[in-house]
Amino acid sequence: MIYQGKARYPVTEIILHCADTRPDWMAGRPLAEKVAEIQRWHVQERGWRDIGYHWVIDRDGAVAPGRRETEIGAHVEGHNRGTIGICLLGGYGAKADDPFERNFTPAQAVAARRLIGAIKGRAAIQKVSGHNNYAMKACPGFRGAEFLSAD
Ligand SMILES: [Zn+2]
Repeated sequence: MIYQGKARYPVTEIILHCADTRPDWMAGRPLAEKVAEIQRWHVQERGWRDIGYHWVIDRDGAVAPGRRETEIGAHVEGHNRGTIGICLLGGYGAKADDPFERNFTPAQAVAARRLIGAIKGRAAIQKVSGHNNYAMKACPGFRGAEFLSAD
């Protein structure tokens, strides 16, 4: 089990996001620099204490950590307690009902499935959803987030 924050909320859900970046955003730069840039948006521009997501998946399938899983994230208003936020780079201009492959790479699908499977191995995940299940947004920019569930 994973518990978040001082109140120890049990993690039961994974929520997927996109960075709303163009496919070639910061291309050729290390993923750590991209994560640092997203962190800068969240800390300097939104005033949060850290990057809002727990994990970030690059276009080539590389995975980098964001906020620790044992901390409450900042990625879905009203649904941050007990959820893990995963952000896929890309998704600029994507629509809520686009097929995954229109805006994201096969390597990202593989990495997301693997990451979700790993999280399921250490937490009692009951649901895998997309940001737009809880907000009128296009994010994560593809339909049926549950297809990435490793079940
Ligand atoms: Zn989102």
